[in-house]
Formats: sequence, C-alpha cells, structure tokens
Amino acid sequence: ATFQTHIQSSHPTFQAAKVSSWSATDKSKLVQEVLRMVNNQRRNPYSKVLRTGSATQGTVSDAYNDEEQEAIIWTTNLYLGLNRDKEVMEESAKALQRFGTGMGTSAAASGMTDLHLQFEKEFADLVGKPAACLFPTGYTANVGAVAGLLGRNDVVIIDQLCHASIVDGARLCGATIRTFQHNNSADLEAVLQSEVSPYRTVLVVLEGVYSMGEGAAPVAEIVRTAKKYNALVLVDEAHSFGFYGERGGGICAAQGITEQVDFIMTTLSKALGSLGGVVAAREEHIELLKSSARAYIFQASISPADMAAALTALRRIRSDDNLRERLWDTTRYMRQQFTEAGYDLGTGDGPIVTPHFSDKDKLYAIVQGMYKRGVQTSAVTYPIVESGRGRLRLICSAAHTREDVDKTLNALIETEREVDELLAATRASTH
Ligand code: PMP
Repeated sequence: ATFQTHIQSSHPTFQAAKVSSWSATDKSKLVQEVLRMVNNQRRNPYSKVLRTGSATQGTVSDAYNDEEQEAIIWTTNLYLGLNRDKEVMEESAKALQRFGTGMGTSAAASGMTDLHLQFEKEFADLVGKPAACLFPTGYTANVGAVAGLLGRNDVVIIDQLCHASIVDGARLCGATIRTFQHNNSADLEAVLQSEVSPYRTVLVVLEGVYSMGEGAAPVAEIVRTAKKYNALVLVDEAHSFGFYGERGGGICAAQGITEQVDFIMTTLSKALGSLGGVVAAREEHIELLKSSARAYIFQASISPADMAAALTALRRIRSDDNLRERLWDTTRYMRQQFTEAGYDLGTGDGPIVTPHFSDKDKLYAIVQGMYKRGVQTSAVTYPIVESGRGRLRLICSAAHTREDVDKTLNALIETEREVDELLAATRASTH
C-alpha cells in the first residue's frame, strides 16, 4: 500500500500538467520518467475506462487491465445527467441520420448546420446577451476568445486559480499576463492600477464557480472593480451554467451582473452533457471573435449529433427546474451526511464536494481503496491545495441518488479505517 500511494502521489503525468513553463530538457526527462514507470507497471492511476453505462454509474475498468467492475462514478462534470436523457439521445440520433457524422470543416468555412445557428441564438438569449459564438471545445473557446481579443500590447489579468485554457489563450496572443489573488478584488485593484493605460485593452478573467469545491465566486464585486478601470471582463461559467440563476442562466444572471460582464463563456461538456464551447457577448464582439479567433477559423466545428444533444439539453435546462432541484437535493444531502460523519468539507456549498485530508499519501490510498469498493473518485493536491495536503473530489450530478451518497460515505469510512490501520502498522514496523 505504501509503495502504491507513493506511485500515485508522484506520478509524472500529474506533475507535468501542473508545471506550465518546462523546458525541452525538462520534458525529455519527463518522458524518460514516464517510460520507466510504464516499464515498472507504475501507470496513471486515473486512467479508468467506461465499458458500459453512463458517466455517473456503470461498468468500468483500468485502461491497462481488462478486469471490469460496477462503480458509482463521481469524477465527471455531467451535473444534470443530461448525457443519458432520453430526449437528448433521441434528438442526437435524429441529427446523426439527418446530417451524418462529421462537419468536415470549421464553422467559419461553412461547417454549420441550422442546429449550430439555433444553439448560438438560444444560448445567447438564455444568458442575456445579443449573440454567441461556438467553438469545438470549452478549452478552445477560452483560447480562441482570449487570443482573438488581445494582442501584444494588451494586458490580461487572471484569477490565479483560473483554468489552463485561459492561461494558454493569454500566452498565445503575447499579451502581458498578470494574476490576482483568488477571489480578491483588492488585489485585482492593485494590479489594475499598475496596468491600466489608454493605449491598451485590459481583460479581466475569472470563473463563476471554481472546480475545487468552493461556492460561487464574488463575481459582482470583481466585475465592479474591473469596471472602475474600464477593463473588459470574461466570466467562465463552466461549473455554474445550467444550475445557478433563473432557468439555469448561470452566476452572472444569479448575481444580476449580466449587463456589466462583456463575455460569458461556458463549455457544452458539463451541464449540457455534450462537447463544445461557447462565448456570448455584444454583436460586435462576437463578429470580432468570428473573424479573428484562430480556434474558430482553423478548427473543425462541433459534429451534428453533439450539436443536437447540446441544443436539446439547453432547452431542457431552460424549462426544467426539477432537474436542477435534483442536483441541489443530492448536493445538500451529501454535504449534510459527510459533515455529520465528521468530514471537513471547507466553505463550499456547490455540487463539487471535497472532504479535506491533511496527508496526501493517505488520500491517494483512499482513492484506490474506494475504487476497489466500487466507488470511483479523484484527488486534488498541490498546487491547488497546500503541498502535502489534499482533498477527495466527488462531483454530484442530478443522476446520482441519495442511495449512491450513502454507499459512497460507507465506502469512505471503511476505506479510511483500513488505510489508517495499514499506516499504523507500517509506522510500527519501521520504528
Ligand atoms: N473552463 C473550465 C473552468 C473548465 O473546468 C474546463 C474543463 N475542465 C474548461 C474550461 C474546458 O472545457 P472542455 O473540457 O469542454 O474543453
């Protein structure tokens, strides 16, 4: 067990993704290290494969080993379970029959169906903006939007916990990149004071809800600060669109600041259960993106089946409050049960529930032990949380039930007891 935990906590795949400024030499050392680990059977512990079922419950296996097992899955962001919705799947199948599989070209070069156009219109309408622009993924939506808007002389100011796609977009356009402390509008103001000039565009980027188990970000306060300095603002609603705000319109709607936010972005792969990304804004900003974002112009567009799934899911989100209520009910139940059992969940209140652990090696052993008991989870470690510490990550969905929560809590309690005993025995034998 000690050997296994060590392997997982130090697996180079995770180290590499966290470090964004590696040199070619660093990378070649990394490749050597990965190869050494593969030869020693020390593989990526999260490489699980879904064999049948849905992304919240199904038959899974390890990618390197065919042994299958049933599992409750808490590692996907399918917040509303719409990936398995009957109507969503039927409409997706109809689009497949109507248009075939791929679009074969980018949206800018005629790779659009009426479904694409309709989605842009209805998404913009739901989040309260005049227009929207689709991208093939959420990742490329952020890269495309940031890099499409800014040039070398501009500045992008990013919350330090923002997603990698935002940082990558900023790097690509060569703008000056500054960060501000997480959710801290006073720190943002200090950065703005030192960067604002009439000769450059300043873009402030933040997320509506961050993915590591927190509640909603103080978006209204941050936007107010940015607007004092006439900065543009982009809010990434990947973890809030669909289940915050009236009709699921997101955090900007919930906090009444849609007007002041220039760009509202989300992914189609989470609450919408499909694949793609979208940015909504004023007409002129959307036209600017459609003619300048290289990720829009030079990349094939979303497939018709995925587009129909997202459009049908969007309509369900707009009209079905029960769907949201199911997610929030499971979320509240999970938070209450885990808290009563003595787990520290931090200050969050959203569907990403993260019991805190002071020892990351113990946490990795728990992830592995729970998997053996049919519960698939993941771990959050440095640099998201302090070095050496960690959080177990359980992402609730409307497709999860209270029974899933009960089974998961029991698995956690049993696994933790087993891991504690093992660690105590290891310590006793080494003293
Ligand atoms: N933004 C945020 C905040 C995300 O968490 C993610 C995905 N984890 C993305 C963007 C990228 O979305 P996608 O996976 O659809 O490319």
